[in-house]
Amino acid sequence: MPLNPDRFLDDLHRLRSFGASGEGKGVVRPAFSAVDIAARRWLASRMEEAGLKTHFDPIGNLFGLGGEKSLLIGSHSDSQPEGGWLDGALGVVAGLEIARAAKETGGPAISVVNFQDEEGRFGILTGSDVWTGSISLAEADMFTDTDGLALGAARSRMAGRAREFLPHDMFTGFIEMHIEQGPGMDVSGDQIGIVSDIVGIREVRIQITGRQNHAGTTPMALRQDAFQALSTFNQRINERFSVVATPATVWTLGHAELSPNASSVVPGLARFSMQWRDGDPARLIYMETILREVAEEVALEKQVTIELGEVGGIEPAAMDTRLKAALREAAEDLAPGKWLDLPSGALHDAANVSRVMPSAMLFVPSIGGISHAFDEDTKETDLVKGLEVLNQAALSL
Ligand SMILES: [Zn+2]
Repeated sequence: MPLNPDRFLDDLHRLRSFGASGEGKGVVRPAFSAVDIAARRWLASRMEEAGLKTHFDPIGNLFGLGGEKSLLIGSHSDSQPEGGWLDGALGVVAGLEIARAAKETGGPAISVVNFQDEEGRFGILTGSDVWTGSISLAEADMFTDTDGLALGAARSRMAGRAREFLPHDMFTGFIEMHIEQGPGMDVSGDQIGIVSDIVGIREVRIQITGRQNHAGTTPMALRQDAFQALSTFNQRINERFSVVATPATVWTLGHAELSPNASSVVPGLARFSMQWRDGDPARLIYMETILREVAEEVALEKQVTIELGEVGGIEPAAMDTRLKAALREAAEDLAPGKWLDLPSGALHDAANVSRVMPSAMLFVPSIGGISHAFDEDTKETDLVKGLEVLNQAALSL
């Protein structure tokens, strides 16, 4: 049978019955939970019915192999604690349908992958992290969830089926289909997004030390108020970053705490996080330089000390030129004038996989830009359009 959109939508709806939240189409399917394991087993049985050879590796990634050397298509089926039905699941089920149709019609060998713990119950992108060698299995085993359960203990629940890690050279490349998880395409009316690159992330913890003092008796001119310094720092960063930012550059002060955090005390200490994301490694570095300059300026002006912790992060991942060209050609053919190139501001397994083989991604719109929520959704016509574009691109490679 050639590509069958009804069968694809059917499988997608059956997958959401594993961990259905009972609220809209939402799912609760964290990595290595009972429903996550049941969903992986069901997906494995669907892969076997399609004539694919199934393989679980030690970290719980599930492969459905279509041949000895093949294009790999997939994503992840674990969800956020309150997740949508499409985040990850869409890419896995699209891969299943395309590999299945290729088998049935004697097309090229196509394999499917379902990565584990993409959503960060234990790590972040853990399944693809371990498979691509960013971290070792022993390191991953030490990760714990918020209840203190170690990943090593959690994955022993699937140990019976686990075999070796598959070599990367079995695959000619990787394509991940995903929902956009933002409002861009829903607003622009585009049906297909071809990801140009996946942004890099930088993050640092910052501490401002002033002088804790009485809020009634300390004259304004003599204060070394850590919160006032934080406030100025934030305003100055917004001004300076916006000069170098592109429309895709983002930055977030997401966590802050004051000490002693009391209404009648001039705060002596402020601790906060700064995170910034961009697709250009040079811009990420330049923004760090700005951050350090602003810290020095504000420390001097406000008579406080500002200390930056170690700057951590993830490098941007460029998507493969040849795979992008195949996706663009298919998009122009099947959705003329209704597709665009765009960067991905969210992390995806494709960022990891791109370090070991040519990789690409395509997006379909998210209604209202909503994701990581029970009411995450995409029009079925857009889901099917994405499937068709991915299939045509895969067959052309
Ligand atoms: Zn996802």
